[in-house]
Amino acid sequence: MDYIELHKQFKENSLFGRYITSKDIEPLLAKFSVDVIGKSVLGKPIYKYTIGSGEIKVFMWSQMHGNESTTTKSVFDFLNLINSSDELGQRFLKEFTFCFLPMVNPDGAELYTRENANKIDLNRDSIDLSQPESQLLRQTFNEFKPDYCFNLHDQRTIFGAGSAGNVATVSFLAPSFNENREINEVRSKAMQIIVAMNEELQKHIPNQVSRFDDGFNANCIGDQFTLLGVPTILFEAGHYPDDYYREYTRKMIFIALISGLQHIYENDIVGDKNAVYFEITKNNMVFYDFLYKNVKINYDGKEIITNFASHYKEELVDGKIQFNAYVSEIGDLNGKFGHYQYNAHKMIYEDSLDNIPKINQKANFSLGKATKFENGVKI
Ligand SMILES: [Zn+2]
Repeated sequence: MDYIELHKQFKENSLFGRYITSKDIEPLLAKFSVDVIGKSVLGKPIYKYTIGSGEIKVFMWSQMHGNESTTTKSVFDFLNLINSSDELGQRFLKEFTFCFLPMVNPDGAELYTRENANKIDLNRDSIDLSQPESQLLRQTFNEFKPDYCFNLHDQRTIFGAGSAGNVATVSFLAPSFNENREINEVRSKAMQIIVAMNEELQKHIPNQVSRFDDGFNANCIGDQFTLLGVPTILFEAGHYPDDYYREYTRKMIFIALISGLQHIYENDIVGDKNAVYFEITKNNMVFYDFLYKNVKINYDGKEIITNFASHYKEELVDGKIQFNAYVSEIGDLNGKFGHYQYNAHKMIYEDSLDNIPKINQKANFSLGKATKFENGVKI
């Protein structure tokens, strides 16, 4: 199947970039028969969309972390597919009953924060259920009684697939249900589906798919749902070179959703791929947005050659996300990579302050006087 072509056909073009809020999805949801299941801390509606007549029940939710919008875009692309007359879309509705919460944390989405309006990380609230958004997610889980859960997130640009300099464009996790990270039938089923999605994604993004750390935390929703007996898959949409808007990654998540769901109805999900799952490369924190190497810095008359790194902070200014680069690390930085890398060949560092890069300082500087960098990039 030509998944790329399929995505092109069903992509929801009104959703673009990183800042996706209720205002963006409400006109789209108006086309479907959706329920409002409750309100966020700041009173925004939280929507549920149920569709399909199949026996296999799949529960998906996105943007429980407000600033993690890539998978929301992929979900709406997927909704266009299943609401079309396309053969595959129709097949999905025959095999599955889907329940979607496309935006669990609309306040965080608006504020462009991970947390909700009470500054609580909803993915660390699965025991206390202290927040209305966490309660609504759990209530939907209890009522719908899913066979599978897809827990949809974004990850930061810091992750590599392995440690050899490949970026982690998509990461997965079959969460643990206990401290010993044991494998039972439930967890094993999630692993099998991940193996199938990885196999497909490797054709599009070879060596850029990885496996998230499986340390147990019952406060995390995926761990909790696995503990409650439902195979749950964590999807992490990550960086792809020069794709800070995550439009390419959005396509990869769409492909993952489709290939994972196809695998479920085409196969017995018995969970016999544990060993293959563990062969998927591990996620490692090896990337910076910017890495400058062999930079000469004058510390009080003493010149040293070192490296330093910068990261983008995504800052919401006047309703738009700005990518602002700040110095984040100075030192050897062995084994680290930059999405943007520059070898200064011992040129001297200068800036408008005291000519020493400092953490959290804006990445505006020059190397060897003539080579200027603004917002991290050589101009
Ligand atoms: Zn997240």
